[in-house]
Amino acid sequence: MRTPIVAANWKMHKTVGEAVAYFRRLLELVPARPPVELVVFPPATLLLVAQKHLEGSGVAWGAQNAHPEPAGAFTGEVSVPQIADLGARYLICGHSERRHIFGEDDEYIGRKVRAALEGGLVPVLCVGETLEEREAGRAWQVVEGQLATALGGVELPSPERLVIAYEPVWAIGTGVPARPEDAQDMAARIREWLSGRFGRPGREIRIQYGGSVKPENAPEFLTLPDIDGALVGGASLDPDKFWAIAQAAAG
Ligand code: PEP
Repeated sequence: MRTPIVAANWKMHKTVGEAVAYFRRLLELVPARPPVELVVFPPATLLLVAQKHLEGSGVAWGAQNAHPEPAGAFTGEVSVPQIADLGARYLICGHSERRHIFGEDDEYIGRKVRAALEGGLVPVLCVGETLEEREAGRAWQVVEGQLATALGGVELPSPERLVIAYEPVWAIGTGVPARPEDAQDMAARIREWLSGRFGRPGREIRIQYGGSVKPENAPEFLTLPDIDGALVGGASLDPDKFWAIAQAAAG
């Protein structure tokens, strides 16, 4: 049984005051035991605020990024133990903005995935092809390569300890989502691959779709057989929209 997981990636948005107002509103909407798993990924500056306001609620929190080393001379970085210390449960690894703007490659992303698992966090591994790669008929080849390198050497104690987010690069922040049939096709291939890699439990790993999900289009994605939730950027900045998307996953 794969519990849907709907996550809000705030990216580099919100101040302390804005975050507090968001959490207050979200907790007015979300019942103590929500029907789906809800996760908020604020910037690192707001993780302590998330802990203060969300602890004991039905909403979890996680970090958008971490360095793979547990400590050291890495000016400007934060580590998995520091994030875990703030009660975070999840870590985004391999978001396309980290890959394309900050030059992170699959090998480095794999180090983060392993660091997250070793440090008690659940990695949300983002994979996805560019438009050029899709048009060249290479979408699966690219995604398979990302999975194979980032998950090489990974030992998974249980399927809940990993989430995959399929996010076609051209759909992120553009207002142009993937076609639901393409998202389903890719999610099904990813599931097959995961079951080959991790055996039968691999089929239970949750797979999110991400890329211009909004309340209006959420049901098209969240009712697909191999899509177990969404990773949401822009629309998640509004707690009412985020909750509306989560409800589509529940329904
Ligand atoms: C994302 O940042 O992962 C994302 C999917 O963004 P958006 O929903 O804005 O496309």
